[in-house]
Amino acid sequence: MTIYCLGSINADHSYKVARLPSAGETLAAEELITGLGGKGANQSVAAARAGAQVVHLGAVGADGGWAVARLAQFGVHVSGVAEVDTPTGHAVITVAPDGENAIVIFPGANRRQDPARIAAVLGDAGPGDTLLIQNETSHQEEAARLGAARGLRVVYSAAPFDVAAVRAVLPHVSLLVLNAVEAAQLGAALGDVAVPETVVTEGKGGARWRTGDDELYQPAFPVRAVDTTGAGDCFIGSLAAALDAGAGRADALRFAAAAAALQVTRPGTADAMPGRAEIDAFLA
Ligand code: ATP
Repeated sequence: MTIYCLGSINADHSYKVARLPSAGETLAAEELITGLGGKGANQSVAAARAGAQVVHLGAVGADGGWAVARLAQFGVHVSGVAEVDTPTGHAVITVAPDGENAIVIFPGANRRQDPARIAAVLGDAGPGDTLLIQNETSHQEEAARLGAARGLRVVYSAAPFDVAAVRAVLPHVSLLVLNAVEAAQLGAALGDVAVPETVVTEGKGGARWRTGDDELYQPAFPVRAVDTTGAGDCFIGSLAAALDAGAGRADALRFAAAAAALQVTRPGTADAMPGRAEIDAFLA
């Protein structure tokens, strides 16, 4: 089936620094790598590299042609990506030697999604297909509502955390994916709100799939991490691809953890996503 991803497309400027700067401090970076990023693009690339058919819904500025071309090179269908008169989104990422990062994002064109285009693209979708959404675009609620109405599996990565967005989108969601920080923010903001199936990722601590009172735990695979930027996106895109291919929850979690473990062993975000053969070999 098809995974539709309404998601951000960013130019990632990743600066290698000796340590993350503190408030008021100026640090010289040792290296700069520029590449394709944005939670949406990362998740689309992760899912496509993991073997899924992926249609990306997004927006870039006149300066974003290279990013769309890069998405297409990774095998993502890009006819749902519009060009708008706002600059392409970008991220300034600082990465410390232990792989920890701090990030500032300029959303730009990502906030300029067109509901008519979303409705037109999702008009081809139906039961068995998946909709992936995050909080770096506009119009997530419309997309989620439409996706749920059309019978899609709606997978929502509530990142960056935004209470208003989560409140609006949650009623239409089949699977909510959060990291540990976002899970705590969700608990604090919404209390014991009825959440559907939830996957909580805990970095090196692994991931938990919660369905009601049941919990499936998947440890992280021990690897030497050099850059954990995009690990969560890799995990989500690969998880969606595994579920789309018919995997059960435990197998999908294991596949996603393996993909993310491979992804953290190299620098970059979208460019670091592992392919299906590499993930299968890692698990063999
Ligand atoms: P990011 O914001 O850095 O993209 P995140 O905070 O959304 O990531 P994490 O919980 O850090 O997401 O990581 C997602 C998954 O990736 C984890 O559940 C784990 O399986 C894998 N992972 C992350 N960091 C590591 C690591 N250092 N070694 C092995 N696996 C890792």
